[in-house]
Amino acid sequence: MQNPMERPQAQTSVVGACTVTDCKFNENHECHAGQIEVRVSSNGAECGTYSPEGNNRPRP
Ligand code: SF4
Repeated sequence: MQNPMERPQAQTSVVGACTVTDCKFNENHECHAGQIEVRVSSNGAECGTYSPEGNNRPRP
């Protein structure tokens, strides 16, 4: 059981696959952003690093 006085260690995760193919960081369903920011919205977690290619359309 974890000691409640210990601070949790920072965890590193990677994006396994991304279906947002119009993002400029998406190459063949792989994220090449280096790092991303995850936001929580009323729709749940979403990528805050999403950047549409070629235009400024809002996030789908
Ligand atoms: S930045 Fe976000 S939306 Fe874009 S490819 Fe990476 S995980 Fe997907």
